[in-house]
Amino acid sequence: MDFALSARAEDVCGRMWDFMREQVFPAEPVYDAWRAERGHDDHGHPPVLEDLKKEARSRGLWNLFHHELAGLTNLEYASVAEISGWSPTIAPEAINCGAPDTGNMETLMLFGTPEQKQRWLDPLLEGEIRSGFAMTEPDVASSDARNIQTSIVRDGDEYVINGRKWWTTGAADERCQIFIVMGKTDPDGPPHRQQSMVLVPRDTPGLEIVRHLPVFGYQDQHGHSELRFTDVRVPVTNVLAGEGDGFMIAQARLGPGRIHHCMRAIGMAERALMLMVERSKQRVAFGRPLADQGTVRDAIARSRIEIDQARLYVLKTADLIDRFGAKGARTEISAIKVAAPQVALDVIDRAIQVHGGAGVSNDTVLARFYASARTLRIVDGPDAVHIRGVAKEELARERPWVG
Ligand SMILES: Cc1cc2nc3c(=O)[nH]c(=O)nc-3n(C[C@H](O)[C@H](O)[C@H](O)COP(=O)(O)OP(=O)(O)OC[C@H]3O[C@@H](n4cnc5c(N)ncnc54)[C@H](O)[C@@H]3O)c2cc1C
Repeated sequence: MDFALSARAEDVCGRMWDFMREQVFPAEPVYDAWRAERGHDDHGHPPVLEDLKKEARSRGLWNLFHHELAGLTNLEYASVAEISGWSPTIAPEAINCGAPDTGNMETLMLFGTPEQKQRWLDPLLEGEIRSGFAMTEPDVASSDARNIQTSIVRDGDEYVINGRKWWTTGAADERCQIFIVMGKTDPDGPPHRQQSMVLVPRDTPGLEIVRHLPVFGYQDQHGHSELRFTDVRVPVTNVLAGEGDGFMIAQARLGPGRIHHCMRAIGMAERALMLMVERSKQRVAFGRPLADQGTVRDAIARSRIEIDQARLYVLKTADLIDRFGAKGARTEISAIKVAAPQVALDVIDRAIQVHGGAGVSNDTVLARFYASARTLRIVDGPDAVHIRGVAKEELARERPWVG
């Protein structure tokens, strides 16, 4: 096992760090000021992001998430994604590697027709538009995708879609021009063949964007939205793969996406640890810097140990995906999807504590990081669902010896 970065990963990571230091971190206050001035309920697109996108492209930091596009393996991309996690609100989008676009682009690459690719994938790869993925519904437990109720009924050359979705990330931003919508085309079919996915352009009559849900009071610039579909009609050529393939596509789509979240979570944890260390060196309480207090040292050391453990697990999982595909790595993907967000949350929580009141204010990134990391225990399958998968595998495991 070689723990060193490959020469290619070292090169991209080096350029990514330069980009972060020279462009992304200085852009953070500009981005925040622009949003604050307009009010956080405004979902306009801060212009500084377009500047960053141009700069990232000129540095060869673009569409790095996919082997066919940038030549990086999942293992190599893991280290780049971790760096982008240091500034999770803007860095992933700046390099066109933000969720849910990456998952949607991968879905179109795998299952899109040449026409679908030309219409939607090409502008997504160029960063000209954004996209949404509408699976979760307010009325049913959507962690079990078989529960999805939205109906997709064929009527001649068209599908008619009726239903409600929520937590469709990205929908508040008007650049989000296309939704991949999951619904049922065959409600009486076998449980895993009832669902299909269709492409629904934003401006389709009958598609209403009802509201944008905050996360712990924070309004994301791209928004997490509730959508209502009332007799929405799209041509049957908008189906992805074929009727009944929705469940299969959902599985294929979520594998790599889950691990990208984990890589970025580790980057968030690293930044929180950096802040914890710096604060503890500067702040003096009871006659000594916080860094000299045993409990603070304990928080720092535990954070380093847990981050390094989680990183190794993410890298192992990324390597398994490279060698055996997302299906072959599904247990590890589930395991790391539980472990990495929890490590990030624990480290951010300790960093908040070391900052005292400042930690829960908006004067540091920590409160926002905490809110974001907390959602990772729910998005792309809640912990309980992944734990179920890991337990099933463990119970079935053959052992070299049973005493
Ligand atoms: C910030 C954010 C962004 C999101 N973005 C998107 C998006 O872009 N597109 C999209 O379609 N969805 C998105 N989601 C939705 C997310 O994927 C769902 O919330 C998630 O899959 C859980 O579904 P649910 O909310 O219906 O919870 P439910 O299915 O109702 O589950 C609720 C809880 O029940 C428990 N539970 C469930 N199953 C089991 C079990 N087998 N054993 C024990 N306990 C169990 C778990 O504790 C779980 O958290 C997003 C959510 C958030 C918070």
